[in-house]
Formats: sequence, C-alpha cells, structure tokens
Amino acid sequence: MEYILETKNIEKKYGKFKALNNINMHIPKGAIYGLIGKNGAGKTTLIRIISGLQKPTSGEYAIYGISSNSKKIVEARKRLGGIVETPSICLDMTAEDNLKEQYKVIGLPSYDNLQEILKLVRLNDTGKKKANHFSLGMKQRLGLAIALVGNPDLLILDEPINGLDPEGIIEIRELILRLNKEKNITFLISSHYLDELSKIATCYGIINKGKIIKEINKEELEQNFRIRTQINVTNLKECVKYLEEKGLKYKVISNDIIDIYEKINVTELVIALSKRNCIVNDFQEKGESLENYYLNLIGGAEND
Ligand code: ATP
Repeated sequence: MEYILETKNIEKKYGKFKALNNINMHIPKGAIYGLIGKNGAGKTTLIRIISGLQKPTSGEYAIYGISSNSKKIVEARKRLGGIVETPSICLDMTAEDNLKEQYKVIGLPSYDNLQEILKLVRLNDTGKKKANHFSLGMKQRLGLAIALVGNPDLLILDEPINGLDPEGIIEIRELILRLNKEKNITFLISSHYLDELSKIATCYGIINKGKIIKEINKEELEQNFRIRTQINVTNLKECVKYLEEKGLKYKVISNDIIDIYEKINVTELVIALSKRNCIVNDFQEKGESLENYYLNLIGGAEND
C-alpha cells in the first residue's frame, strides 16, 4: 500500500509529560483518515507536528517516503495543505482577495485555478461581500479554499465542523467527498463528531493518552460491528429452547426480549416459533456504531 504520510515512533514531551508516545500512523493515498480521540489525547499536537508547526522530541514522519529528517521535506511539505485551529482568513477581504493573498504567501507567480477553487467550494458568486459577512459554514469553506491553493495532495483538517449548523455540516461533508473523488485529495480529519465522521472516513486512527491504540479501515470496522437481532416474544422458554437446538448465540434481555448475535432468517424464525406456540411481536436489527466501537476500545485501554 502506498502511504502519503507515515509517522515512525513520534514522541513529544512537554517537560516530563509525554503528550505523544511512539506514534505510528499510516495514511494511505486517497484515504479519508479519521483521527479520533478525547480532549487531551494528543490529536492537535500530532497534527501540528505533521504540519511542520512543531518539532517532535524524537521520531520522524515521512511524506511520500521523504523523511522529516531530510532536507527535501521542505519541498514535500508543499504537497500538504491544512486548516489547523482557525482558518487563516482576512475578514475584511472578499473570498477572491483572500485567495489572491494566499497565492502571494505561497509565492505562486499567477492566479491560475483561482476561479476553479472558488467554484469548487461554491463561493464563486460572493462578489464584493467581505468574509466578515460570511456564515460560519462559508468561512470554513473559504478556509478550505485557501488550503487548496498550491494543489495539495493531502489536506489536514482539525475539527472542520465544530460550531457548524446542520446545513453547514452537509456542505463540508459534500465538499470533502467531492475533493476526495474528483481531485483525488487525501484527507486527515480530526473530529469529535463520530457519527458524522463515519459517513465519510475510509479508515481511522484511534488515539488515547498519546498513543495510537488502533488503526482500522472501514471494511474491517464493519466486520467488527456485531449485528444483533432483538426479538420480542410471547413464550421466552420455547424461544430459548429453539435457539439452543439451532446452536444460535443469544442473550436473554428480559422476560420477553432476546438478542440474537447471528445473521438469521427472521421469516423462518417467526414460522418455527409460531409452531411452538410462541409469537414474535417485534424484531429489530441493531448494528454497533463507530461510537460504540470507540468507547469499547477506549474502555479496554483505560483498564490496561
Ligand atoms: P483537544 O481535543 O482538547 O484539542 P487534543 O487531543 O488535540 O485535545 P492536545 O492539544 O494535542 O490534545 O494535547 C495533548 C496533551 O498535551 C494535553 O494533555 C495537553 O494539556 C498537553 N499540552 C499540549 N500543549 C502543551 C504545551 N504547550 N505545554 C504543556 N502541555 C501541553
């Protein structure tokens, strides 16, 4: 697998406190990598190190295989763009002027692709409106547009939907997916909104107390989700007998509710049970969420 960014044993100490401890992270090219962890887990520190805003105490990272210890890293870092903390927007400027400023900062000789970038983030019709009159969602999209100047391959977004209303969240989600599919941009996104992240992420890194405790891709995660069917029955005893005979894994939840932890044919089950004088009043398929998976993992790690 080709990794656009890898970290090797990154450690960051603040005095005696280890904020990052042997971080090994792998971001595949083309991925939307969700970085998950609670407050203080070390996400921002890690992101700042990768973005070149802070130096690790030890360890290294590589962008397209170029080590952070090599002189070529300065060139390689140009393939990264990002919004870390607040986007670098000038509020008394229009969207277009903000972008022009970024072209100058990066040292690009002409405003090539400027209109295309404005269109991509749907800010091409904001005309003379200054950024201080933009909604939070528009400001966030402008931040993304600024990060897109210079054609990065990897965009790093630290909490991109914080404070956005539902419409703003959908706009950012669609923009990220569009940039990923159409422009082949890889994303590293840290977010507390696990439900939202699970709608777009293709892989995850779970960080806890300065350590990456798990890297997992979407497919592996889905296999980990335990699907269960919860049934409500009139004759618990007969139902248990039937499940025992069939060798199905189950758990009795109450006098009339049983969880079955295997894929089952519900019609078959209903017919079989009705022959045994047991009616199925209700059934629901329940899947585990990313949040549950994360909480179980963190819970396990806390008990280490
Ligand atoms: P949040 O979601 O709250 O932003 P985070 O996962 O991004 O949390 P970091 O900001 O990376 O966490 O902080 C990791 C740990 O390092 C925290 O315990 C924090 O208090 C500590 N820390 C961060 N910066 C410094 C600093 N400059 N000096 C001392 N400790 C620091």
